[in-house]
Amino acid sequence: MKMLEVNDLNVWFGMGRDRVDAVLGATFNVEKAESFGLVGESGSGKSTILRALTGLAPHWSGSLSVDGHPIGKKRPKSFFKTVQMVFQDPYASLHPRHSVDQVLGETLQLHGFSDIDNRVVKLLDDVGLGQKFRFRYPHQLSGGQRQRVAIARALAPEPELLLLDEPTSALDVSVQAEILNLLADLREDRGLTYLMVSHDLSVVSHMCDRLAVMKDGALVEVLDVDALRHMKASHPYSQQLLNASI
Ligand code: ADP
Ligand code: MG
Repeated sequence: MKMLEVNDLNVWFGMGRDRVDAVLGATFNVEKAESFGLVGESGSGKSTILRALTGLAPHWSGSLSVDGHPIGKKRPKSFFKTVQMVFQDPYASLHPRHSVDQVLGETLQLHGFSDIDNRVVKLLDDVGLGQKFRFRYPHQLSGGQRQRVAIARALAPEPELLLLDEPTSALDVSVQAEILNLLADLREDRGLTYLMVSHDLSVVSHMCDRLAVMKDGALVEVLDVDALRHMKASHPYSQQLLNASI
C-alpha cells in the first residue's frame, strides 16, 4: 500500500524572467510505514518537495496523492490529520510568546480533540520531555527541547505521514542522535511513514529504507539502503555523493 505517490511533480517560484524551477518532474512513491529519504546538495529542491506537499509552495503541476487520495490545490483540514511536517529550525518554528501548553493545546483543539489536558501530558511524555516543560516558553528551552516540542505538535493530530525537513541539522551534534533515535522509536511504535530530507547520507542510511538522490531539482536515482551501505549507485552523481560522504 502506498502512503504517498508523487508523479511528475514540477514546482516553480516567480514568473517570467524571475521564474525559478525548483523541482523538475519528480516521481517517487513511499510505501506505508516506510521511511524514505531525500538527499542532495543545498538548493537541489528537497525542501520544496515537502513544501509543495503541505501547500506551502503554491505553483506546482503533476499529481500528488496521500493514502490513495489525490491532493488538490487546497489542503482541507483533514489533510493535516494525516500529514504533518517538522521543520529544520526549531527556533523559527515555535511562536516566541506561546507556551508549550498553548502550542500543543491549540493544535489539539484545532483538530477537534476534547481531552486536551490528558493529551498534552501524554504528548510531552511521548517526546521525552515530561510535564515540567508544559508551561515553559521557547526561550526557556534548548534547541533539542524545542525540536521535541515541534515533534509533539506534529504528533498531536495522530498523523500517519511525517514530513521531516532536516530535523536535526540546526541542532548541536551531541543532541542530533537523541532526536534521530526519538524519531526512529516513534515510527516503530506508531507505524508512521516518514519522508525525510537530509544532506547527510549517514543520517539517511541510519533512518531510511530507501532514498532518492536529487540534483538541480530532479530526482537522479532511487536507491535502497543496502545499495547505500554498499556504496553502490548506478548514476555517476549519486556515486559521487556517496564517495564524498566517506
Ligand atoms: P534544498 O532544500 O534542497 O536546499 P530548496 O528546495 O530550498 O533546496 O530550493 C530549491 C531551489 O528553489 C533553490 O534554487 C532555491 O533558491 C529556490 N527557492 C526555494 N524557495 C524559494 C522561494 N520562496 N522563492 C524563490 N526561490 C525559491
Ligand atoms: Mg532545504
